[in-house]
Amino acid sequence: MIYLDNAATTRPCEAAITAAVNAARDSFGNVSSLHGMGIKSEKLLSAAKACILKRLCCKGELYFTSGATESNNLALFGIADAYKRRGRTIISTAAEHPSVARTLDKLSEMRYNVIRLSPKDAPDSFEEYVADAVTEDTILVSCMAVNNEIGYITDTPKLYRLVKRKNPDAVFHTDAVQGFCKIPVAGDLISMSAHKIHGFKGSGALYVAKGVRLSPLMYGGGQQKGVRSGTEPVELIAAFSAAVSDYPTELSSIRELNDTLRGRLSDMDGITINSPSGDRGISTILNFSIGGVRSEIMLHFLEERGIYVSSGSACSKGKVSGVPAAFGVSAQNADSAIRVSFSPQNSLTDIDELSLALCDGIKRFRR
Ligand code: PLP
Repeated sequence: MIYLDNAATTRPCEAAITAAVNAARDSFGNVSSLHGMGIKSEKLLSAAKACILKRLCCKGELYFTSGATESNNLALFGIADAYKRRGRTIISTAAEHPSVARTLDKLSEMRYNVIRLSPKDAPDSFEEYVADAVTEDTILVSCMAVNNEIGYITDTPKLYRLVKRKNPDAVFHTDAVQGFCKIPVAGDLISMSAHKIHGFKGSGALYVAKGVRLSPLMYGGGQQKGVRSGTEPVELIAAFSAAVSDYPTELSSIRELNDTLRGRLSDMDGITINSPSGDRGISTILNFSIGGVRSEIMLHFLEERGIYVSSGSACSKGKVSGVPAAFGVSAQNADSAIRVSFSPQNSLTDIDELSLALCDGIKRFRR
């Protein structure tokens, strides 16, 4: 089996599995319990928090969630509610993951003024373009760090600085699911997901900088300072932190896989690369279109060979995603797009097998 769909989810690493099993055996106490077992779990949670904050290079607060969908909802609804008396404008992009995009739809219905900017309108200076749109009424800017379908990188440390320069009171949020552990990310709020970096599904976090107010999404036992009620899943949190520690800091081998596949594709006819090159493209994602072969046909052909890729984002199953258009990808190219996404668990042999299979598929199916 050759798994090249790591932007959809990843295989949990051994370190995460061991950490979860150890926590389940030895640290199953409730973090809120006052006895020794509770204190043991509390220590585990604090250590995990410290580990993730260190990797983020941030000093604020970290709230554990059920994943980035919840982190994004908490960030957007939480800020919109907490700062509603200050302004009603929210600036975001037309390329966000549905967990941000659909939340913004809801905020629009709640009479927030939502502005969505397209990277295709300023691909080389998107940070300046977004910051230019910020006004006094802007309470929130939400911009993903790395697009999950195309792999386009927004320089969030730069955008964060530009937004603050334009309006120091505007809160900057980034959905950093595809960027965390891979590139520097920055913001007042940062969403993360464990299962994209070899942790477990149902586990994520939201980083919140000091001084930023956030209304909770859910009410309950007041855990995690009342921002995120619910008994903390120490097993998942232990696995998340172990996955972070295990994720390499040096990703040149993944860049080599990406470059090698790009090279092989350039030798094939009728291929359009949809992912940006250079500093704008993340090494872990390569999206390309195979002229004359629909995505799903190629995806299933590759699957017969034991190779797993995606036809776009896994979340858009069966639905047409508007995201490629936000990057200027034509409808025809979107219809034949394949997303290959790498992890440290892949090797050059995987690329050899994929390239061979692609050539065979093109011969067989091209109209
Ligand atoms: N944001 C991005 C960019 C994603 O790629 C995903 C998952 O596909 C999510 C958010 C949602 O993450 P989760 O599955 O942890 O809810």
